Amino acid sequence: MLTAYWTGKSIFDIEPATLARRGIQLLLADLDNTLVPYGVPEPTEQVRAWTRSLADHGVTLFVLSNNRHPGRPERFSNALGVPFIGHAGKPKPTSFFLAMERMGCTPAQTAIVGDQIFTDILGGSRAGVTTLLVEPIRLAGNPGRYLRYAAEWPFRALTKRRAKPL
Ligand SMILES: [Mg+2]
Repeated sequence: MLTAYWTGKSIFDIEPATLARRGIQLLLADLDNTLVPYGVPEPTEQVRAWTRSLADHGVTLFVLSNNRHPGRPERFSNALGVPFIGHAGKPKPTSFFLAMERMGCTPAQTAIVGDQIFTDILGGSRAGVTTLLVEPIRLAGNPGRYLRYAAEWPFRALTKRRAKPL
C-alpha cells in the first residue's frame, strides 16, 4: 500500500503516550530527513528528548536506514543509544522482520515512521506494521529528492485525505 495510516509534519507530532496507548512498543524510524537532515551526523537535543520520552512510555526507537555509508547509521544510533540496521533495503520487508525479531515484537506492536512513500511506507505496509508518514526535513541540496517528492505527491495527498488520528 502506498498510503500511510497517519501523516504529520514531523516526528515531533508523534506523541509517545498516544503510541503506547495503541499498544506500540517498537518504533522503527528512518534516519535521513526523518530524524535529522542528510549529513547531520548526530542526534539533536530535541531528538534525544523525544527518544527519552518514547522510552519512558515503553516504546523503543529503532533506526532502520537505507543509508549505504556504513558509519552513518551506526554513529547516529550509538549516540542516541538505540539499536539500528543500516543498508536496510527498504521497501523489502526483510529488515523490518529482522528488527521485530530482535526486539521480540509483533507487527501489531510495531510502527514505522519515515519521510518516503516508496521505501518507508511501502516497506512498512508489506511488513504489516502501522505506517506513519512525515514531511522530509529538507529537500534542498539534491535535485533527485525533489523528483522523488514529486512522484510521491499523489500518495501524500491521498494519505492526508484518508489519514486517521493516531
Ligand atoms: Mg528518509
